[in-house]
This record gives sequence, structure tokens and C-alpha cells, in this order.
Amino acid sequence: MQEAQTYAALLRRRRDDLLDELAGIEATLRRLEQGRFGVCECCGQAISRDRLMQFPATSWCSACKRDYEQRRGIHHTDDAT
Ligand SMILES: [Zn+2]
Repeated sequence: MQEAQTYAALLRRRRDDLLDELAGIEATLRRLEQGRFGVCECCGQAISRDRLMQFPATSWCSACKRDYEQRRGIHHTDDAT
């Protein structure tokens, strides 16, 4: 059935997204334990408290994230990478 393949593809993509998110959360917890939480991995500046409250698993400050997205031509900022 064609539809089953479509749903399977959607479910796999969703699963992969969640696994990526989980890996990001695990990495952030490790940074927290090592005292490196809240520091941008790109520029080394402190990530703002507002951003950390909104995206606690982020490893980039909003400026680096924005630069990255502009370079890649991405125009949304709603994920936490
Ligand atoms: Zn940065």
C-alpha cells in the first residue's frame, strides 16, 4: 500500500528528529556536569538566560545560530541546535 510507505517515511523522519534531540540533550547534560553549560560552542560567549530557558539543550548563542542559518539559507529559528 502506497500510503503505508508514506506514513513509514514520516514516522522514521520523526523518530530520527527525536533521536537527534535526545542526543543533544544528553550532550548538554554532560556539559552541565563538566561545568561547560551555557557557553556557546561556536564563539565561546555566554548564552543568554532567556535563550537557555527557551532552548535548554542549545549549544550555540543566538548570534551564531542566526549566522549559521543565514549561511545555509534557513529562515526559521525554532529548533534548539
Ligand atoms: Zn556564539
